[in-house]
Amino acid sequence: MSMSSAHAKTYDVVVIGGGAVGENLADRAVKGGLSAVIIESELVGGQCSYWACMPSKALLRPGAALEAARRVPGAGDVPTDIDVAATLASRDNFTSDWDDSGQVKWLESARIDLIRGTARLIGEREIEVHPTVEQAGLAAENLRVHARAAVAICTGTKPVIPPIPGLVESRPWTSAEASATNDIPGELLIIGGGVVGCEMATAFADLGSKVHLIARGPNLLSSMEDFAGQAVTQSLRERGIDVRLETEVTSCALAGADSSDLIVDDATSVPGIRTKAALSDGSTIVADQVLVATGRQPNLPQISGVEFARDDDGSPMLDDSLRVQDTNWLYVVGDASGRAHTTHQGKYEARIIGDLIVARGESNFGSAEPADLKADTLAAPQVVFSRPEVASVGLTVPQAQDFGFEVQAYDLDLGAVAGAALHAHDYTGQVRFVVDVRRQTLVGATFVGQDVAEMLHSATIAIIGHVPLGELWHAVPSYPTMSEVWLRFLEEAGW
Ligand SMILES: Cc1cc2nc3c(=O)[nH]c(=O)nc-3n(C[C@H](O)[C@H](O)[C@H](O)COP(=O)(O)OP(=O)(O)OC[C@H]3O[C@@H](n4cnc5c(N)ncnc54)[C@H](O)[C@@H]3O)c2cc1C
Repeated sequence: MSMSSAHAKTYDVVVIGGGAVGENLADRAVKGGLSAVIIESELVGGQCSYWACMPSKALLRPGAALEAARRVPGAGDVPTDIDVAATLASRDNFTSDWDDSGQVKWLESARIDLIRGTARLIGEREIEVHPTVEQAGLAAENLRVHARAAVAICTGTKPVIPPIPGLVESRPWTSAEASATNDIPGELLIIGGGVVGCEMATAFADLGSKVHLIARGPNLLSSMEDFAGQAVTQSLRERGIDVRLETEVTSCALAGADSSDLIVDDATSVPGIRTKAALSDGSTIVADQVLVATGRQPNLPQISGVEFARDDDGSPMLDDSLRVQDTNWLYVVGDASGRAHTTHQGKYEARIIGDLIVARGESNFGSAEPADLKADTLAAPQVVFSRPEVASVGLTVPQAQDFGFEVQAYDLDLGAVAGAALHAHDYTGQVRFVVDVRRQTLVGATFVGQDVAEMLHSATIAIIGHVPLGELWHAVPSYPTMSEVWLRFLEEAGW
């Protein structure tokens, strides 16, 4: 149970960061009989609820639904454009207008205490909380919190801003500002061709912006199977988005509304200000807004007075249970660990590590079994809500080969399946199943096409369960659904 004095409190588990991961970890600790507190510097619920998953998907859903309806013969006259005001209002609704009182209520019901402020580690199991600016009046002095068993750092990530001359001065958006904006730029320049870049390009094209997407690599979505990025590139171009591959923004400069060069100290003080971006292909783009989507890095709290092994970049080195090496009390979980990059995967880690902290007990000396986080390496699913959607789980062919598997890839035309033809007129899509030849089990799957997201979980189950192809053969997909692509795959694999 917690003990308090005027400016010091003690809990079994102290969780720094109240995003989805911190909430889940604290919940498991309390369910296991420990006391837990979450220290949160912004909104309880974190990135996902207010600046990432929920708002971005709310912006993307109307365009996807309209396009789907337009592709059904007999659906009648379906509007070509989304209702921008209604879409923004729906986004506001999904983020509860950036008000976290609902999540705070949930914390109360889960018997998790909340301290608002910025935490920093000042010694072994010792945390100091600084009130954030808005709260400074409430708590004049810093608060000390002591953890009896464990401290879990669940502080997520922050965006990487590349060192492009003039970029910072042009006041670029990160995905947080893009997700929360009410101003739809006439012309938007997105730097970065990963998941965030592709989703934001789709969303802002739907909202009416002229979008330029600049990617350094030869393909979009470079961590996925090649055909996924190729399909998304083609589709983005077909909907009028200017996609430039193997191209970099080399410098940015402020420009006036008429695109003339401008020198100002404070970009916000000039109405209609634009950004003139020079590109490595020799061209120039003048945009109303730049959005940086070039990756994220762990957002670790300040740590002083604690000695432990660090990576080259200074972040703590973790063992197999996400515990910082050379400590028996400090964990880094979720996006902050650098291993998870999605909410669902971070929550999976949180559930497991929360239970592990309970099992290891107050002394936390590692008597319990190591954590089984096998889904992190073998079967982490991810959906890109672009159009077409990309849904992947497990290993791509190159990743499987790096792991030493002898694999065979089976490529299937999703459009050739009866269920797809009924789903949408002229349906196009592709699926790749990656099979471990020796064990005859699935180790990876990638689906590309309209509405494939919901097909992913069947592949996740097959991979994590090591289901032999001979057994999968008895999992009969319903007719006429797109899942019949599994049957085509098994036929090709010789069953
Ligand atoms: C644009 C975008 C779209 C995304 N879409 C999806 C999606 O559709 N599906 C999906 O699964 N994932 C998606 N993600 C990824 C997802 O948002 C993250 O995986 C998830 O938010 C990570 O959760 P977390 O709890 O680890 O970190 P966060 O949600 O970042 O929470 C960390 C919390 O810690 C707090 N904090 C930080 N430092 C301190 C400190 N020193 N003291 C106190 N508090 C602190 C922060 O204020 C924050 O609230 C998306 C990401 C982006 C950027």
